[in-house]
Amino acid sequence: MDLGLKGRVAIVAAASKGLGRAVAEEFAKEGCEVAICARTAADLERTANEIGKASGRTIFWRAVDVTKSDAVHTFVEEVDKKYSRIDICVTNAGGPPAKKFLEISLEDWHAAVELTLLSNVYFAREVLPRMQRNRWGRLITLTSVSVKQPIDGLLLSNSLRAGVTGLAKTLANEFGADGITVNNVCPGFTLTDRLEELVEKRAKDAGVDREQALKNMSAQVPAGRLGRPEELAALITFLGSERASYINGTTIQVDGGLVKGLL
Ligand code: NAP
Repeated sequence: MDLGLKGRVAIVAAASKGLGRAVAEEFAKEGCEVAICARTAADLERTANEIGKASGRTIFWRAVDVTKSDAVHTFVEEVDKKYSRIDICVTNAGGPPAKKFLEISLEDWHAAVELTLLSNVYFAREVLPRMQRNRWGRLITLTSVSVKQPIDGLLLSNSLRAGVTGLAKTLANEFGADGITVNNVCPGFTLTDRLEELVEKRAKDAGVDREQALKNMSAQVPAGRLGRPEELAALITFLGSERASYINGTTIQVDGGLVKGLL
């Protein structure tokens, strides 16, 4: 299937490693101009070089903290200046800390609102007017299966990602007539550094070793295993493409069947 992605300009946030990186790799393989950001310049540079080498493209990168609206503004403006448009934007950030309600301070709440909710707003404010001018765009928010089935011990994620889902659905309604689709994608347990953090915490809480904690996690998944980042990236690449032109306002999980609900 030709996805029609050649020459499209794609921003992927928080993409020096993990899920964001896998998404950037797929868009580059499909022939997109790809711009990535994260906070740590050295990691980003290495990732941009590696993706560039594998895809034969030059990857644009900038060190950006997505909790800073000014930094997001400058980044998007630079990408727009370089490529003269923005077609696709995948919002993403690191996960908020895994804590239970009584362990969470007000500072934690404020920081998580910036990281998990507002970072999506900062990108949406920058890219949607630009997409509107071109009457074509794809905004994809990357959240978690926690928006369909809250995960014990991830209270900040469970609370704030629901807000991102509401944001994405409402933006889909507001911008649908402009040729823009907005969809939300929810990873289940996927093998990245973030998952390692959660596994360590679960192992400690349950008094088991890392291997057992991983086995316990896999046992919850009908597929019987954890996900690979490229399995999530495949869906996001499709949603970013011309071929997904009538998929709008959805929330789709890539979780091996982990979510037990019907929809
Ligand atoms: P990861 O492997 O830890 O990678 C996180 C990426 O985000 C890194 O590139 C990191 O680089 C960047 N980042 C973190 N904070 C940032 C900030 N403030 N500004 C810009 N970049 C930032 O995590 P992941 O597994 O890919 O997870 C990505 C998102 O999906 C997280 O929100 C996570 O909670 C969610 N999620 C993951 C899973 C899973 O199983 N992996 C499941 C559900 C949801 P720097 O540190 O250099 O900034």
